[in-house]
Amino acid sequence: MIIHIKKTALKSDISLLRDYLNNHNISFNEIKHLTEILLVVEDQNNQSLPDRVGSFACVSHISMVQQPYKLAAKKTLNQQTIIQVGDVQIGANNFVVMAGPCSVENEAQLEITAQTLVKAGIKIMRGGVFKPRTSPYSFQGLGLEGLKLFSKVAKKYGLLIVSELTDSKYLNDFIKYVDIIQVGARNMANYELLKVLGQINKPILLKRSPSATYEELLMSAEYILAGGNSQVILCERGIKTFENYTRNTLDIQAVLALKELTHLPVIIDPSHAAGRFTMVSPLTLASLAVGAQGAIIEIHPDPANALSDGAQSIKLERFVTLIDELKTLSKVLNTHIT
Ligand code: PEP
Ligand code: MN
Repeated sequence: MIIHIKKTALKSDISLLRDYLNNHNISFNEIKHLTEILLVVEDQNNQSLPDRVGSFACVSHISMVQQPYKLAAKKTLNQQTIIQVGDVQIGANNFVVMAGPCSVENEAQLEITAQTLVKAGIKIMRGGVFKPRTSPYSFQGLGLEGLKLFSKVAKKYGLLIVSELTDSKYLNDFIKYVDIIQVGARNMANYELLKVLGQINKPILLKRSPSATYEELLMSAEYILAGGNSQVILCERGIKTFENYTRNTLDIQAVLALKELTHLPVIIDPSHAAGRFTMVSPLTLASLAVGAQGAIIEIHPDPANALSDGAQSIKLERFVTLIDELKTLSKVLNTHIT
């Protein structure tokens, strides 16, 4: 059960409600969600509770959410969450492209990639500096020095950046240098990390683990929302299936399902899904067609020599063409590419 507090409620009236719940041993979490104060009450057998609580002066309305994720549930908010990052809106009637290398490698690579994004009218650049690699012998990323370099180049070109945080010990650096903090598929269920990210005021790009259900993904989002950070973007990045021709299988239905279940924006990652550069453009177009609110795409000036994920990175020229293709398709769909 979620108790929505009136925007005009008096502090003293909210205290009366808190006292009532405490006196009846009803545990609740009080959360500031966007402009609302919400009291999330654990599911109760107590049938008369909604009526009793609903009569308090500070209460606007009660929503009964059956799903275990309360704040992420579509019903709780009843409107699409729109996340503002710089001058980009994620979750509005647009398709937001984030693109860049899998890993930040050097300044020249960042420069030419940034120039390509600017030319294509794209505002958000991706790049990993802490790389969660399957093998400890593979390139692990340039770390904080890479992050500073990434931030410097992005600023020069007026770009926003998204990068993956693998350990909360780097949180302050990420708050300083990064516009969207990515939680990778491997960390989707790192609840301690999610709790920390719930405490900050920064958009979080939460990737679905390849073996997580929609509900598990939404429960991970709930950890961030429950801490008071309402800026969560969900990302479908391919799931494990029996097929091994591709790296993973893009669950394109996830976009439709998640849009039925939640008010949070949903984007896709065609690169880690397919693991093959030839499939990246068609999958991105399909994602736009199916209603995704954006995509995060790996691009590289020289994929054959990329330090990570070269096989799934598209060349810069192909990326420019993809943006043209997306723009053409967006006209039919009555949306636009950012
Ligand atoms: C990435 O975006 O570079 C990445 C490692 O993705 P994922 O967490 O989805 O594997
Ligand atoms: Mn990658």
